Amino acid sequence: MTGDVTVICGPTAVGKGTIVRAVAAAHPEVWVSVSATTRAPRPTEVDGVDYLFVTEAEFDELVGTDGLLEWAAVHTTRYGTPAEPVRRAVAAGRKVILEIDVQGARQVRQTMPEARFIFIEPPSMAELRARLAKRGTETEAQVAVRLKTAEAEMAAKGEFEHLIVNDDLGLAVSDLLHFMGL
Ligand code: 5GP
Repeated sequence: MTGDVTVICGPTAVGKGTIVRAVAAAHPEVWVSVSATTRAPRPTEVDGVDYLFVTEAEFDELVGTDGLLEWAAVHTTRYGTPAEPVRRAVAAGRKVILEIDVQGARQVRQTMPEARFIFIEPPSMAELRARLAKRGTETEAQVAVRLKTAEAEMAAKGEFEHLIVNDDLGLAVSDLLHFMGL
């Protein structure tokens, strides 16, 4: 599959979702993939909008039928990109955004080397910790796991062709628009 695909990575709570939503809201040609996950929904999350919330068995079925473009175990749950909707969006000429983790990005680099790979980083790890605490959607143990994963993800940022520091949201959005040719 070839097409206009942008892969966005970055540690937990860095604000990837906010940046991507702003870009998509301003540009109707942008299409944002909805990932499947075995994680439980947060109170504000809507099935089919934020994620497709699936059972372990449903996720196994997606993997077994080659229904995922990529997938990875992140933190303690599995996340994956349903392939068919991406194929349809690419065929319709949309600019596709995949917001996925570093392991998933590595898989996409194998199958779609022409995609754009963008890493969003926080101004500092201290700031990331503060944002995660402020969000308040995870237990202390979950926060600790996420920070450990965040450190591992930050160590991989050299693999990406573009880096965006999410210090000022407006600037981060305009950087992403620029990289996507919008
Ligand atoms: P959260 O649970 O905070 O929504 O997401 C946790 C991590 O899972 C984030 O790093 C996010 O980028 C990653 N993630 C979300 N969807 C996918 C996906 O479809 N594939 C992969 N590989 N990672 C994903």
